[in-house]
Amino acid sequence: MSDRFPPPTGLTPSTLAPTDSTGTRARDPQWQAQIDGLSAHLQQAQRIVVFTGAGISTESGIPDFRGPAGVWKTMTPIDFGDFVRSETVRRESWRRKFSGPDLMATATPNTGHIGVAKLAQLGKLHCVITQNVDGLHQRAGVDDDQVIEVHGNANYATCLDCHQRYELAPIKQAFTQNDQLPYCEDCGGMIKTATISFGQAMPELEMQRAHQAVLNCDLLLAMGSSMSVYPAASLPRVASQQGARLILINNEATDLDDLCDLVIHRPIGESLSAALAQMPQSSTPNDSA
Ligand SMILES: [Zn+2]
Repeated sequence: MSDRFPPPTGLTPSTLAPTDSTGTRARDPQWQAQIDGLSAHLQQAQRIVVFTGAGISTESGIPDFRGPAGVWKTMTPIDFGDFVRSETVRRESWRRKFSGPDLMATATPNTGHIGVAKLAQLGKLHCVITQNVDGLHQRAGVDDDQVIEVHGNANYATCLDCHQRYELAPIKQAFTQNDQLPYCEDCGGMIKTATISFGQAMPELEMQRAHQAVLNCDLLLAMGSSMSVYPAASLPRVASQQGARLILINNEATDLDDLCDLVIHRPIGESLSAALAQMPQSSTPNDSA
């Protein structure tokens, strides 16, 4: 990935990569200035809403399904309407879920997720709104009730009718060993992984919570998202209109860059952890309620 961040012109390799006393590669001055800015913003903020997209989890080895090189470019996603209508499609959906390694279950949080959890420990995190379905924010230590998953979660399943939660292991066993499709024990409804599929309505409660959170934040920190799809596209403007600061960390430029107080086109984990390392480490009372 190093070729994605070519050295700025005018810097020779020997001036670009000196090591400091800890042996870490020193950053170029522009990136260091951005980290200083990020650190100052995080320090001032009291109610941070973090918004994350696929870019934060690619550093944990989870592919960006919707991105330019994403899985959906080579495999057609299953439409929600087809899932509900067709038993064949439901079988295909579970077959895909249970074939190959379960990256969602085995992936571990990276320094980006750990940085967000650190903001929670410092009492600065209002909540995380995430487009990711991997549960890595919670695995990094952010409380369940501080994570709003607008595309659901791939690590368990729910009944489409009564929303009862089901764990994947017994479903996998019945499907792979006995070819059984899962149905709800309470109401007989169809069971589906708890993600929001193509063609499926966005979860109303989560969308309301996300909107409310952004109305109440003083800093919106968006990471790893091009911020081009709803709700990502609308929330930064809501935050900006009520006076919150906007910071974006993303590999590529986005339509939102001009609106932001700070934009960093560098790796998320390294940028966030460097900014946090420059902050005082004592916690303040959590006002996220
Ligand atoms: Zn049910």
